[in-house]
Amino acid sequence: MLRPIRRSCLAGAALVLAAPTVVARAQQADSSVAPARQPDWGAVRDETVRHLRRLIQLNTVNPPGNEITVARYLDSTLRAAGIETHLFEPSPGRAAFVARLKGTGAKQPVLLMAHMDVVGVEPDQWTVDPFAAVEKDGYVYGRGAIDDKGMLAANLVTMLLLKRHVIDAGGSLQRDVVLVANSDEEAGGEWGMGWLIANKPDLIRAEFALNEGGRTRVVNGRPLYLAVQNTEKVAHNVRVIARGPGGHASVPLPGNAISRLARAMAKIAAHEEPVRINPTTRVFFSELSAVWPNAAERRAMADVASRDERRIARGARVLSAIPIYNAVLRNGISATLIDGGIRTNVIPTEATANLNIRTLPGQSIDSVVARLRRVVGDKQVSFEVDRDTIDAPASSFRSPMFTAIADAVRSVDPKMTVVPYMSTGATDSARLRAWGVHTYGVLPFPLGQEDEERMHGNDERVPIASLLFGTKVIYLAALGVAR
Ligand SMILES: [Zn+2]
Repeated sequence: MLRPIRRSCLAGAALVLAAPTVVARAQQADSSVAPARQPDWGAVRDETVRHLRRLIQLNTVNPPGNEITVARYLDSTLRAAGIETHLFEPSPGRAAFVARLKGTGAKQPVLLMAHMDVVGVEPDQWTVDPFAAVEKDGYVYGRGAIDDKGMLAANLVTMLLLKRHVIDAGGSLQRDVVLVANSDEEAGGEWGMGWLIANKPDLIRAEFALNEGGRTRVVNGRPLYLAVQNTEKVAHNVRVIARGPGGHASVPLPGNAISRLARAMAKIAAHEEPVRINPTTRVFFSELSAVWPNAAERRAMADVASRDERRIARGARVLSAIPIYNAVLRNGISATLIDGGIRTNVIPTEATANLNIRTLPGQSIDSVVARLRRVVGDKQVSFEVDRDTIDAPASSFRSPMFTAIADAVRSVDPKMTVVPYMSTGATDSARLRAWGVHTYGVLPFPLGQEDEERMHGNDERVPIASLLFGTKVIYLAALGVAR
């Protein structure tokens, strides 16, 4: 689900497969929302499981993707319910799908997003057929169960429920609610959100979007918090190039490029970027410090959320020992590739390494590189920055969308905390934020660490109770923001 952002552009390759089917029912522009009848949640659970199983059985391993099969399923299901749909095939077998519930237009639309493709499987490492959508011990197993067909099923059911319980009940929505299903999220996104923005901008223009990218974490057996991703770190690649004299290996040279690169990399490995707390991470740590089970970590979280420099430094020392929190507190630098030499008996003139650097939003990569240059302190070592990145503004965690998510979660489980969250990985949401849509990432299914780690792994599965929880949250959040 998380991947480096690549730019995609493919103008003019759209092929409209299905003309829009507009809902026949006239919208009453001046009526306010009628009180929605509460859905029968037991029936909703069964309906969501049924759709999720069908979505898993449609194999969309990318490559090749073949997402058109899933898009056709969404199209026929939503059209049968009288909902407007748009299906595009930007390239053979790939699909972009949009469905719309019309609102009164009093407010701007809200998007419910999910991708239709999944990553591949190692079938012999699974205990079940990854595409049979086996229901077992209270779980649905299958590739995509949590990334991202679970959310796709929850979004699909949300559209159906809004149609049945609001529109068909004589009520109305103040915003259009728009389901967007993308292709190719797992392999570069050429046929995904970038394609829709470039080719069908009017269909997806919106004030808010709900996407994947957050977490709903079960700690010590109970759902503790739902983290809503409202900003993300920015991925950069920086090449470190060491140069030196070449020659025959029989005559060792002090300026050997490989040795020079090794010294530089050792200094970079020992370097720590400064701790920086931003509005999202301050609230994230502050809210978690109220509920976190481990006392030392709880105190450290309160410390880093304070405005006292000494306390921040003390808290950061504790949290930096945990790699994921260390990555949240500062710019991160990971060495990922190394290259140099042409023969076993030749001293090369050049050796290079790649650093994958994740800057905090709004931080300059050039100032990181300037610090690395000083740390390395060698004129024969240079740095080259790849500039293909999107540094998008954070989406506000005081917006009506964030509030609707938080209200939805509390109405389903009043004991849970909802926190804004900065992901350390990059998502499609940056592209949308840069385009002006306030985008929020969730994974609305309460999962323990062990189940969460099955994402992209073996025996991926979603607890059926969590699937219902997530469907309720998305339905109530969409209803809340659109009324
Ligand atoms: Zn994903």
